[in-house]
Amino acid sequence: MVSKLSQSALLAWYAETKRDLPWRHTSDGWKILLSEILLQQTQVSRGIGYWLKLVERFPTPQSMAEAEVDEVLLLWQGAGYYSRARRLHALARQVCLPSSEGGFDGVLPTASVQLLQLPGVGPYTASAVASIAYGEPVACVDGNIRRVMARQTKSVNPSVKEVDHWAEKHLFKPDAGDWNQAVMELGATVCTPKRPKCDDCPIASSCSGRHEATSYPEAKKVKRKRLDLMCELRYDSSGLPQLVQRGENGILAGLWGPRMAEHIEIESLEFIGEVKHVLSHRDIFVQVWLGHCQNGIDPETVALSSLDRKILALGTGN
Ligand code: SF4
Repeated sequence: MVSKLSQSALLAWYAETKRDLPWRHTSDGWKILLSEILLQQTQVSRGIGYWLKLVERFPTPQSMAEAEVDEVLLLWQGAGYYSRARRLHALARQVCLPSSEGGFDGVLPTASVQLLQLPGVGPYTASAVASIAYGEPVACVDGNIRRVMARQTKSVNPSVKEVDHWAEKHLFKPDAGDWNQAVMELGATVCTPKRPKCDDCPIASSCSGRHEATSYPEAKKVKRKRLDLMCELRYDSSGLPQLVQRGENGILAGLWGPRMAEHIEIESLEFIGEVKHVLSHRDIFVQVWLGHCQNGIDPETVALSSLDRKILALGTGN
């Protein structure tokens, strides 16, 4: 027989065992927002270094709003999903607009409904920032919480509504920030997708699915897409590559790199190999062709994606 989920057991476990992450030492909403946007698609271990660089250079929304988006992209390079950096910059600029123009006079709003109005902020991020930084009693729902819920309730494929309902029902309102983080921490470190450590779980006694935990929730079938591109990698006489800034749209929007397209004219170019780059739902294969140019650019001065760095490494034989 399962008992009622013990909020106090989970909160005590969280207080005792939570990972020491730098954004857990601040109550500054802007800095917490930076961590949440980074962690949307970057692993915690990699996110720490990016977060430290971002908060040092951009300690306030104003400091980011005054910078060019290229500088944000430069700090973001390697973290992937660059549209986040562009939206974050747009968010900072919107926060700094006067309220008469739809902004917030330079002060990050504290309520989740207002945070939701900002670029790049969805329901999860709005609830996470509002609860963690400002104590608003709102429940967060992310993949970790969905997994904990599915196992606690033996749900094979819980709907968004069902997970929301579970999260709201169990929310510890007096300290929603710690509660939300405790459930997410449990999902990230104990109730993990492949090998849940049920013997270490503070809420095992209320878990209906613990004896066949990995059956819940059902694994989503992700259809991977393949993208084939050609790249024209040209170097000038001093060994600097020709780099162009990409347009506003697409997976590498706003970043710099050698020219890439589905088809390029290869006359006078030499084929030097293929680079494979794996994103969460997409495999990119790039055929790289080598040539000459007049004026190259120092790659250290512009924002490049990991894919571009792999292509440049192929070109220089590193
Ligand atoms: S008992 Fe196991 S399956 Fe259930 S919540 Fe805890 S870690 Fe997850």
